[in-house]
Amino acid sequence: MNERTGRFALASLAAFFGAVLILLGAGACEAVRREKTVALTFDDGPHGEKTLELLKVLSDDRVKASFFVVGKQVAFNRQVLRRIRDMGHTIANHSYTHPNLTELSPAAARDEYAACSELIRDVTGQTPRFCRPPGGRTNAAVERAGREAGLQTVYWTVNSRDYTDLPPEEIARKVAGLVRPGGVVLLHGGVTATIEALPAIIRDLRKKGYRFVTLDELFPAPESHKAGIRRRGGSDS
Ligand SMILES: [Zn+2]
Repeated sequence: MNERTGRFALASLAAFFGAVLILLGAGACEAVRREKTVALTFDDGPHGEKTLELLKVLSDDRVKASFFVVGKQVAFNRQVLRRIRDMGHTIANHSYTHPNLTELSPAAARDEYAACSELIRDVTGQTPRFCRPPGGRTNAAVERAGREAGLQTVYWTVNSRDYTDLPPEEIARKVAGLVRPGGVVLLHGGVTATIEALPAIIRDLRKKGYRFVTLDELFPAPESHKAGIRRRGGSDS
């Protein structure tokens, strides 16, 4: 894995057979990136009670995070999504049915994102700004589908691999060891071990001087921060 940091600091990394990572679809605000900031991101929810548990840990530790939600999960967890909004976390788009977008037509991929954004808007009154393709599986057409749906694609710089049945201590150790300033951590909100690992992740990163930010803070909207953003298209996978 290679990290390259420019003035506006993108993480740009190798992706191999879709298994690895990562590249942020846009430059992080330089000031935020230069500080020791880290964004925790939780994919695949909302997951009812489990998400409420996760929200409680975040709230107890005064951490704001970002949630890449799936439309079909939102459909029967509307209250939970509003709770995520009310607590000040960033809500982002992870497609409607969580398909492999690289296997869909460009129009169908765009519709996946558009339908999820529409539901988020309907439930929360907020229009999401960021998307992440399911499984990180991407190509130029998938990136374009995101842009056409009005979304900025954000991958991650640290993969916790919490979906591989790791014990909580291992998840915490891996995350705390791999985070660098401006990092984006991939986690899954429906995984019990992740929720159990969270207090240690937060404690260890704070000990190292990190501050937790949402994606909205890491990538301020162009209107409010035109000078600090350089957009960059295309990612490898
Ligand atoms: Zn996912």
